[in-house]
Amino acid sequence: MGIKVAKFGGSSVAGPEQFQKVKAIIDADPERRVVISSAAGKRSGDDHKLTDLLYLVHAHLTYGVSCEEILHTIERRLYELRDSLGLQYEIEKDLDRLRSRLSRDLSVDELVSRGEYFTSRLLAEYLGFAFVDAADVIFFGLDGQVDREKTDAAIASALARHGKILIPGFYGRLPTGRIKVMSRGGSDITGALAAAAVGAEVYENWTDVSGILMADPRIVPDPNPIPHITFAELRELAFMGASVLHEDSIQPVKEKGIPLNIRNTNHPQDPGTMIVESIRDEERGERFITGIAGRKNFTIIKVLKRNMNQSATLRHALEILDRYHAPVEHITLGLDSFSLVASSAALGDGLYDVIADIRKNCRPDDVQIQDGIALVASVGRQMASRPGISGRLFAALGAAGVNIRTIAQDADELSITVGVQNEQFETAIRVLYEGFTG
Ligand code: ASP
Repeated sequence: MGIKVAKFGGSSVAGPEQFQKVKAIIDADPERRVVISSAAGKRSGDDHKLTDLLYLVHAHLTYGVSCEEILHTIERRLYELRDSLGLQYEIEKDLDRLRSRLSRDLSVDELVSRGEYFTSRLLAEYLGFAFVDAADVIFFGLDGQVDREKTDAAIASALARHGKILIPGFYGRLPTGRIKVMSRGGSDITGALAAAAVGAEVYENWTDVSGILMADPRIVPDPNPIPHITFAELRELAFMGASVLHEDSIQPVKEKGIPLNIRNTNHPQDPGTMIVESIRDEERGERFITGIAGRKNFTIIKVLKRNMNQSATLRHALEILDRYHAPVEHITLGLDSFSLVASSAALGDGLYDVIADIRKNCRPDDVQIQDGIALVASVGRQMASRPGISGRLFAALGAAGVNIRTIAQDADELSITVGVQNEQFETAIRVLYEGFTG
């Protein structure tokens, strides 16, 4: 029998009804033997995540302001979860111990990790899984990086010992014995580490959407989820601003060739998005754009110089931007001119120094600046194999009155990125979604 690792995000464990949904999902498939849980998240729009409340407790302590009210809110939520599900866990004891250490030896990392700890204790009891503390199986080295060898061995042996285990996400232990938390959203990483450690057949990441959406739902109403996507495509989408899993969290499963399935706890029948290393031809389907993402507020720096030595002039300009810590996102190169695109925020006030330096070092005929530019990327592994795609994309944008300021295709032909005016960002995304993802 294979092993499936199921990670549940904060919204999936936010309240008693969500716990019931999680149980139904786990009970439906005996291969789901390793569960990772986030801290209870928001139950509704105006609610708070346990993790945020715990960070708030820390802030109050730092400034010497009473945090009683927040502590009560946290306690109430935990008691309510326990009591409404008829669980036995004596949270009072653990909470009392925590309180007594609050202004003594408790580090901020240990404090905020308790969101995952308490939620997971409750969920483990509810599911009938053995609770395995992340402090006993997720190990960091002195460099702050996860010690994969030690972690793999500890998780594998915990599973062998107990058969079904639940590990809290987001934290682990340093060689000094202290608790360390990962970056926000770090339970995804714990899930990936566990999946890699037990050689899972799939890493299921349960959340509150039915997969990665083809476009931002704030721009395109009700966009379809992406059924299949490669890790490389995902990277492009994430880079261009799509809110998808963080690269670090994917690494352990990617290395081992374990597919990652994003699923919806509220709609478990939906297949969600399957992220894999490569996709077979028969699964490709007809769609050639996998997803669309973009970001606003870029600046185009256009350097004009007749009969220039392109390589040398470009190199000088790139060095200048590098010096001002403004990463270049796109370059377009012509015979007598080139354009560099960088984030306006990264350039900041340094823009004027950049221009002055370009004038001095590149000796151009002119330097022109255009800000308020948005970059929109169409990402799809299928674009490379089809002739005429870019022509059709540009035609569709043109027909909608979107003026394209820059065009760039990545060397792998995995994405085509256009620069448009900020005001036309949403229109460009809608046109691409409507015309090319159906
Ligand atoms: N609870 C942590 C956070 O809110 C980690 C996680 O949910 O993955 O960032």
